[in-house]
Amino acid sequence: MPASKHIPFRQCVACRARRPKRELLRIVLTQAGPVIDPTGRRPGRGAYVCPDRPECWAEKKLRRLAGARAAELSLALQALLKDLANPDHSKGGAHGQDPNLSARQRAGDEQRGAT
Ligand SMILES: [Zn+2]
Repeated sequence: MPASKHIPFRQCVACRARRPKRELLRIVLTQAGPVIDPTGRRPGRGAYVCPDRPECWAEKKLRRLAGARAAELSLALQALLKDLANPDHSKGGAHGQDPNLSARQRAGDEQRGAT
């Protein structure tokens, strides 16, 4: 393996996994609250979560990062990332469906019994 290219690693605030920065989703804590920063360019204190692990979007796991804003952040992550995971699901009537189904199919070989 070539050692010439340095890959920055970051740690997910929820599961504490260390992953290449570009595999993680950046969140910036602003004075108005946590903001999801897909471009990674917002100034401010950044934190990272796994965009492909719904358990990392849970309010409980985000509380360490966002405190009282954790619920808000959790919802924002779910809204953003579930939508990305299910691009052809129509919005609006999602109640009663299992949103994990498509995400699992998509995750496929990423499942290593890590639940
Ligand atoms: Zn994670």
